[in-house]
Amino acid sequence: MLQGPSTMSKITSADLRKWETSALQDGVIQAADVADLKKLVGSDKLGANEKAVLQDMLQHDRFDKGAKATVVKLAGATKLESSPVLGKEVAKGVFVSKSHSPVEGHRTKEQALAAARMSGGENLIAVEDKNGRWHAASATKPVSAKDAKRGVATLHDCPPAAYKAVYDRAMAATDWDTKKAELTKLAALTYGVPESQINVMKVGEQPKVGSINVSVDSNMDGAGRITSGCNCGGSHDNFKPGSNDYAITVRADQLADPKKAAGVMFHELSHAEDYRQAQMVFAEFKKADPVGAAYLEKADFKDDPKGPNAVNGEKALQQWLHSTTKGPAGKLSSADKWKAQGYLTGQGGATEANAYSRSFVQQFRDLVKQVEGQKAPTDKKSKEYLDFYDKLGGQLRTWAEAQKNGKVGPINGQTAKIEKELKAFYATLTPDEQARFKEVMTDIKARYATSDVAKLNAP
Ligand SMILES: [Zn+2]
Repeated sequence: MLQGPSTMSKITSADLRKWETSALQDGVIQAADVADLKKLVGSDKLGANEKAVLQDMLQHDRFDKGAKATVVKLAGATKLESSPVLGKEVAKGVFVSKSHSPVEGHRTKEQALAAARMSGGENLIAVEDKNGRWHAASATKPVSAKDAKRGVATLHDCPPAAYKAVYDRAMAATDWDTKKAELTKLAALTYGVPESQINVMKVGEQPKVGSINVSVDSNMDGAGRITSGCNCGGSHDNFKPGSNDYAITVRADQLADPKKAAGVMFHELSHAEDYRQAQMVFAEFKKADPVGAAYLEKADFKDDPKGPNAVNGEKALQQWLHSTTKGPAGKLSSADKWKAQGYLTGQGGATEANAYSRSFVQQFRDLVKQVEGQKAPTDKKSKEYLDFYDKLGGQLRTWAEAQKNGKVGPINGQTAKIEKELKAFYATLTPDEQARFKEVMTDIKARYATSDVAKLNAP
């Protein structure tokens, strides 16, 4: 692995990741580790990808103060923020060694716990920062709920078969009380929340705001859903302005695989962020154009999308939103404005694009690990092929399929933003992971050619 100076062999991001794993074994990257890195790099000039990988480490790994400056230099970084929870003591003598979240973290503990599970890391927890944001993280040792400090949430780390066994027991139960009790236990284990937060619903029952709702309805459309505001009957096609309330529902069969179930939660909570942003936009719109807002309030984009309220409301909103530079709505990017407009007018394509793409980024490294050593099957009709890409393609493939089936609308103003995010993510991957990413895109282009996903210029 260590190359002599005379060979001048080029360092790859895979070498850097290997170094990272070994350097982080004691929970912190120290000066001695960085000295090893310098030896490894030698006189090589790091390429853009390798620099991106080092920058990713600087944002997500715990460094000793003295160790950091050298890596900052190697990474060609100037101003680079790191996750605020790195090095935090989460139980007596136990510290955060790595973050699995974007530097800004997540609004809810549930989303951070889902992100943690999807990352496939070790000693997973969620940690709250000073601003009340939550971060998925790895600790230097396993942390039990009993030992965890304030602002630290723990996850049960049982083998996947253990979750499947509880799921099978729940499904085999012939009486409702047993089924409900088993599913409640399973959902609480999966999501790292108390059982009191789980609401297992009979078919036809309405989800509760603030609970994690589990549906035993096998005909439920989609693996998860968010229902908005005071009207908990539909999906984001029945957005009701004026409320920050929402309810999340997960279809019970997703709980058979804890990582998949975590992916569903992460996806729905991504919608929750967009939902709240849309509420903010609506409140601003109402101040700026009360007449236009009144149309929107009366509009029914589900059952009467061509009616005068829907048409006039959308027109007024679009005119105001894309020209305003005032207030919080005026500060939004063009992509976010289209996303909020979509939410307010019954078009879910933009919020879906973000939910699927963000979830894919969160889960992808672990998905690659899950197919390690497997060659991608080529016979597109074979079960092996479908199984392989069902796993490796994660939510990016699901998005393409949902678009092909007409269940998810057009990407609507998000293309450039999502391409940029995917490309930035791609740059932090090792060559092996990049090859897998390309396999996923090749599959999507072959099987879902008409989808917006297939047309993305990424990587
Ligand atoms: Zn969705």
